[in-house]
Amino acid sequence: MSTAALLKEISDGDVFDRAAVKALFDLPREDLFARADAVRKDNMGDEVFLRGIVEFSNVCANDCLYCGIRKSNHDVRRYRIEEEEILEVAHRMEGWQQTTIVLQSGEVAADKEDERIERIIRRIKTETRLAVTMSAGNRPHDTYARWRAAGMDRYLLRFETSDPDLFAFLHPDCDLEERIGCLKDLRGLGVQVGSGFMIGVPGETSDILADNILLCRDLDLDMIGIGPFIAHPDTPLAGQANAYAGDTDMFFAAVAALRIVNPKAHIPATTAFDAIFPHAGRDLVLQRGANVFMPNATPGRFRKNYMLYPDKPCVDEDDHQCSGCAAARVWSIGRVIGQGPGHSIKVR
Ligand code: SF4
Repeated sequence: MSTAALLKEISDGDVFDRAAVKALFDLPREDLFARADAVRKDNMGDEVFLRGIVEFSNVCANDCLYCGIRKSNHDVRRYRIEEEEILEVAHRMEGWQQTTIVLQSGEVAADKEDERIERIIRRIKTETRLAVTMSAGNRPHDTYARWRAAGMDRYLLRFETSDPDLFAFLHPDCDLEERIGCLKDLRGLGVQVGSGFMIGVPGETSDILADNILLCRDLDLDMIGIGPFIAHPDTPLAGQANAYAGDTDMFFAAVAALRIVNPKAHIPATTAFDAIFPHAGRDLVLQRGANVFMPNATPGRFRKNYMLYPDKPCVDEDDHQCSGCAAARVWSIGRVIGQGPGHSIKVR
């Protein structure tokens, strides 16, 4: 299909299938990026929402093959940030135009940590005007319900790959059906749901990449985060190359196609892009479909112990520096910082 014919199909609102998504990957890249940026502007405007991430615990019971803080990595010093310190960060964020706090951790079995998180959510919602996004893995429905009742607005839980066999290989502790079940539980509770995937994990084909994008659409996600696979040296995937190592523009093509197929989702420019394209990766993603920036708000002394992948940027900075840098980057590309909570724009 020609560029013009495919773009006409897009503007006519035709339903995408795998072949059409793969045809997007094959478009001249500048045409694809320009189209994605136009779709972003038409649907999400020029605002970029700042959502600070607090990596509040690196304790995890799971052994995902790609993850630097998997439980079998004994070189990681484990930590849990105290409740009061998390609240101090939340209060600071309000002064920096960050209107959402994202609380991220590893996955642990339901225990007193669930109660602690419930208390932290309630306090943030009572003491600040921040929206609260949680990202703490597969949890029982009851836990999600309690966090929702405490005020949780959103939840991020990436499916990582839509291929069930590849998912099972990468995740010895759960299967794809269970992960999708969690996303459906959250939706049923009225939580805004975010998911996403790695780009180019070993074993991924262009069919799988297209299916990943289509699964995001089929799940009707409110937020979609995707980022390139980067092999961590202390994991079973050490030394493995990204499936698109010879064509790193594919990372951006994936974001652009994602935006075109999911016009009304919030799409962050994820940190992994900066690991591969230092100081420029996230800016380029914002210009190729994304509309959210997630500065690291974790207190500086914990950051080196939350290395999901190597060369993660911003580990030597603190939350104040990351906040200023994020705002400057948004302005430098001619965009404006989002005001208000930046909730989902989808009407159901
Ligand atoms: S990806 Fe998440 S659940 Fe898996 S090992 Fe890492 S922190 Fe744990």
